[in-house]
Amino acid sequence: MIQDTIAAIATPMGEGGIAVIRVSGDQAVRISERIFKGKKKLSEVPSHTVHYGHIVDPDTGARTEEALVTVMRAPRSFTKEDVVEISCHGGFVSVRKVLDLLLGNGARLAEPGEFTKRAFLNGRIDLSQAEAVIDLIRAKSDRAFRIALKQSEGTLSKRIKELRHRLVELMAHIEVNIDYPEHDVEEMTNAYIKNKCSEAMTDIDGLLSTAEQGKILREGLVTAIVGRPNVGKSSLLNALAQEERAIVTDIAGTTRDVVEEYVHVGGIPLKLLDTAGIRETSDIVEKIGVEKSRQALADADLILLVFNGAERLQPDELQLIEQLKGRQVIAIINKLDLPQQLEQHILVDAFGEERVVRMSLLSDQGIADLEKAIAGLFFSGQVESSDLTYVSNARHIHLLKQARTALSEAYSAAESFVPIDMIQIDIRNAWEHLGEIIGDSVSDSLIDQIFSQFCLGK
Ligand code: GDP
Ligand code: ZN
Repeated sequence: MIQDTIAAIATPMGEGGIAVIRVSGDQAVRISERIFKGKKKLSEVPSHTVHYGHIVDPDTGARTEEALVTVMRAPRSFTKEDVVEISCHGGFVSVRKVLDLLLGNGARLAEPGEFTKRAFLNGRIDLSQAEAVIDLIRAKSDRAFRIALKQSEGTLSKRIKELRHRLVELMAHIEVNIDYPEHDVEEMTNAYIKNKCSEAMTDIDGLLSTAEQGKILREGLVTAIVGRPNVGKSSLLNALAQEERAIVTDIAGTTRDVVEEYVHVGGIPLKLLDTAGIRETSDIVEKIGVEKSRQALADADLILLVFNGAERLQPDELQLIEQLKGRQVIAIINKLDLPQQLEQHILVDAFGEERVVRMSLLSDQGIADLEKAIAGLFFSGQVESSDLTYVSNARHIHLLKQARTALSEAYSAAESFVPIDMIQIDIRNAWEHLGEIIGDSVSDSLIDQIFSQFCLGK
């Protein structure tokens, strides 16, 4: 049982406005009561109520900050423990002062992720949900945020639990038949096992197929904007940057420059390579100090190849087109507002009509077409899966693959009439791998490793 009471600042440092300090544990209310003076004693107020008052130093009696204090009693709180949240004006000094008072009166400074860890250990959330909280904190796009939110609500857990439930039924079924090993029963059982295993594999494949998309939504498509000088690369970048802003995460250190590398096109985050280069108008191809742009091109998941529609294709452009055939390219014909000279059929032949987008960045024309083309390339046109159960966590992907391998071993074993208790072992392995996703049967060290990825105060 967890005994001590923890406290931490739950909002980002130095941001001004309101800061929240969170306290959780048996003594949360009593410790907070010592340093807070309101109309009523906190130990006497009903759960889930908010109280206005002042922070006081119990040693000197000095009243300082105004504060709003929310009391949430166990088990109806995030950690399932008594939780007190103290909101006060957010200057660093005053927040630090409140935290110090709490620490001086019996609370311990929380480790990174400790609140979420307690929620997990107290059975409030399972491991995949806890990991989703990490993803929420780090989410780089609105859509990634929503996926993580869904996962934190347990949609992945639900599907994993259903799968495991069916494997348990299968194991029970096998168990019964092990006791009656007549030949025709064995034959029926093998057919049954194969059937059930392939069903489960199909489900896992479905989840895994969302993994690539989930990864894109979480980490962004690494994108290079390439083209001759003056075709409109900087204009494109600026147009994209005006799209939906990234959700700025509240981890210290995840600052502007990280966020600004990302733009969002139809909800898909693009991680732009060499953005600074383009901004300073020393563009990739110009700078082509060839080496660098080659590297950018090699690293990219997506290449936006920009052309000036008012000019004929130049020899170096033809060369680039040749070189990039077979890659994930979208050819952008810009300056549609001017009389067109460009040999469009060359681009259509090289990349296909659905990958050629016509734009006039001067008049903000064609952005929607670009969105459609990108979605078409990476999401078969549809960004959102119906239930948003994207698997995007590397640990989950690995475990799903292991479970699938175990099931396919069970399947082959059933096919070649391997003794049924041997098959049972494979199925059990699959069941255990799936269990690790939601935190059944995981080791303490893994739990520590997962929760150490959090920032303080979560
Ligand atoms: P970059 O060198 O490839 O980055 O090209 P820029 O984005 O800096 O654009 C070069 C010039 O083309 C600028 O003067 C832009 O205003 C102009 N330009 C960009 N897009 C369009 C467009 O769609 N139509 C017209 N007429 N001019 C454009
Ligand atoms: Zn430029």
